[in-house]
Amino acid sequence: MKNLDIILTQIERNGHLVNYHFTVSRELEKYFTSHTLFLEYDRDVASVPDSILAIPFVSSLLAFSWVLDCNLWVREIDKTFYDSVSRIREAYREIYDHFPLKGRFVPAILTRNELVMRGKTDTSAVLLFSGGADCQATFIRNLAKSPMLCNIQGWYKSLEDKDFAADADKRDISKFAEEYHVPTCFVRSNFAVLLTKEFDKVFAKKLGDTMWHGFLHSMAFIGISIPIAYQVGINEILIASSLTIGLNFLCASNLTTDSEFRYAESGFTTHDGFELNRQGKMGVIVKHQKSTGKPYFMRVCSFNDHNCCECEKCFRTILGIVAEGGDIKDFGFNIEGSLKEHWEDVLYRRGGLMSFKSEKFIHWPHIKKRMLENYDIIKDKEFVDWFLHFDFDKAKREGLRRYYRQNFFSILRRKLFQ
Ligand SMILES: [Zn+2]
Repeated sequence: MKNLDIILTQIERNGHLVNYHFTVSRELEKYFTSHTLFLEYDRDVASVPDSILAIPFVSSLLAFSWVLDCNLWVREIDKTFYDSVSRIREAYREIYDHFPLKGRFVPAILTRNELVMRGKTDTSAVLLFSGGADCQATFIRNLAKSPMLCNIQGWYKSLEDKDFAADADKRDISKFAEEYHVPTCFVRSNFAVLLTKEFDKVFAKKLGDTMWHGFLHSMAFIGISIPIAYQVGINEILIASSLTIGLNFLCASNLTTDSEFRYAESGFTTHDGFELNRQGKMGVIVKHQKSTGKPYFMRVCSFNDHNCCECEKCFRTILGIVAEGGDIKDFGFNIEGSLKEHWEDVLYRRGGLMSFKSEKFIHWPHIKKRMLENYDIIKDKEFVDWFLHFDFDKAKREGLRRYYRQNFFSILRRKLFQ
């Protein structure tokens, strides 16, 4: 018998806003920053029944209930979604085979819902869209479905919170959607900050991953998009893969877990692009840009409102574009003058602080292979030759030495007085 409980007591709707009020057992209190999960959709969700609207709440707290082995109680849930929950847990159990995922999900009423196409629309899929390379490739591969771009931001402590990176996402995604004549959906929430740091402090080491990276950034995203898909009458949710065949890392988003999310009889989830590595996806994007002849704007910098052209992610994307024979200016990267000189300068200034550890093993081999295959069509051969022969380990060692020399006194002060 489990004696720890999370109980969804009320789903309060207020136009675009949905507040999920819940209670938890005393022993669980330390893990929660609030007793209300909120979602602010950019549209009225009044026509969505409670049994569907409860899905985001369940998806945000299921993993927590598995790890803490507690009961997750809700009044009413969609029958198709309920049936998928045990399969989702089974798929996560295969991944976390070193940690018992227990818990019990207990609804009082199972409701059968069916999808009804509402209004005239060409859109036949909801695509979870952050703007990064993975979902750009999925967008292009699924253009025929005219996908609705759904951007979910979960880091708001309250609705009054400001998030400049999220605002920049919204601006760029809206502009992008307008160009491609596809609909958008924006959601603000506190789901990513609903738990205190205590959870990761106690469990991250045992699980081998954090709640955010290991569960939420897939489960909550899919769950939150389901009421939108239901409201419009769309039966497919698309989520872009971040891993590929042979990459056995812990991550929330896997084909085996994501594709178990079902809703309203015919609603399903497609984990797209798993057969492609990152460079394969860059190939899809560059090929598409060339075929249209128009610029294809990408913003890959996570916590910036533009491509900084100085970080690991910008570097990887630029390398990827060049390796496919693309021109970085067509993709939203503005570097004046020689690419080689720019990156030499960045590595001189920031080299010691940049980490290419995982990049080198995961992404660079595919990038290098494509650079060699496409060498004849690549315009900036100077940059490619430099990258293929540059000693990044040496640059890092020298960069670190320089950093310590320049910051000797402040480091010493920190060490002495900490
Ligand atoms: Zn950057």
